[in-house]
Amino acid sequence: MKWYPYLCSVTLKHYIMNLIERVVEQIKSDLLSGDVTALEELLSFVPRENLLGYLPEEEWEKYENEYMCDNCGGGFIREEMAFDVNDQDLCKNCNAGIQHENFMKFGR
Ligand SMILES: [Zn+2]
Repeated sequence: MKWYPYLCSVTLKHYIMNLIERVVEQIKSDLLSGDVTALEELLSFVPRENLLGYLPEEEWEKYENEYMCDNCGGGFIREEMAFDVNDQDLCKNCNAGIQHENFMKFGR
């Protein structure tokens, strides 16, 4: 017979806490074996603010700032940008594309 949790709010809270504890145990064991794939997948469902909130405050600035790519217009964080490329601020993707184009045109 399958067991389903009885979902009154107190029981549900208890159930979730147990589940989270168990998941944390699993994360620890995955980390010990060096396997972060499942953890990264899981964290991809967590809203950005919550991920950010988990980090030390002094690192927030690094991720909070959003920059505009002059080529594709997308919003990027500082680490995804290349600044002052031919007077443009580009995301790394566009920058790589433009470097490639120049290479094809001018051979440099
Ligand atoms: Zn771009």
